[in-house]
Amino acid sequence: MSLIQLPVQDLLRENENHCCDGCGPAGICVKIVSIAELPTRFGDFQIVAFSNDKDGKDHIAIVRGDVTDGEDIPVRLHSECLTGDALGSLRCDCRDQLEAALTAIGKMDKGIVLYLRQEGRGIGLANKIRAYALQDAGLDTVEANLALGFRDDERDYEVAAHMLMSLKVQSIRLMTNNPRKIEDLKRYGVRVSGRIPHVLPPNPHNEFYLRTKAEKSGHMLDLKDFKGKVHLQEQDDRPIVKGMTPSQIEALHE
Ligand SMILES: [Zn+2]
Ligand SMILES: [Zn+2]
Repeated sequence: MSLIQLPVQDLLRENENHCCDGCGPAGICVKIVSIAELPTRFGDFQIVAFSNDKDGKDHIAIVRGDVTDGEDIPVRLHSECLTGDALGSLRCDCRDQLEAALTAIGKMDKGIVLYLRQEGRGIGLANKIRAYALQDAGLDTVEANLALGFRDDERDYEVAAHMLMSLKVQSIRLMTNNPRKIEDLKRYGVRVSGRIPHVLPPNPHNEFYLRTKAEKSGHMLDLKDFKGKVHLQEQDDRPIVKGMTPSQIEALHE
């Protein structure tokens, strides 16, 4: 294994007494508390644990290679989803999205997945399950999405920006299909030098994306999964599935 790894002791020493006014309006300050090896089925990574000064959420960076002082580092932002990521729930495609990001970065020399502990768009696990139950009881998609909570993205970007700063990343290429996300991150001082499309391999669980016609604004809210259940959006970034037509890809951002 010849990957050059993070300078662990330097980072820990620098973070030990770190204190700042934080990023953005919420003024969130995070600091690295520990770094360990993380061999995975997607490749060898290091896992970086952060603490923050606002809530008890331990955000995580899954890092490949030495990204410190790095330019053009591929970065994916992923919001925690226990049911999808860990349990393999098919009510959402979070796990597919996470695996696609780890698989892609696992093949690169350097890259980062920021795993943000924002279960259910920040409303928490129990409330997310409540939204599922409402949907089971026949709530329409729009109502269910509202119950799930169109979360305030701002906080995520503030945390993400500070995490990248803590890792001393100089510039990133964001893995996203939504160019607007780049502007959001830039607001908090992240230098975004490019964008990498986030592409999922087609599988029986996401084929509903391929069947969906590219129509007008909001049509994505009506995505039905392979069992005819309405599919709620839990990550804030629509995936591209290999095989989508150009007009379907175009429609992701409408
Ligand atoms: Zn700080
Ligand atoms: Zn999910």
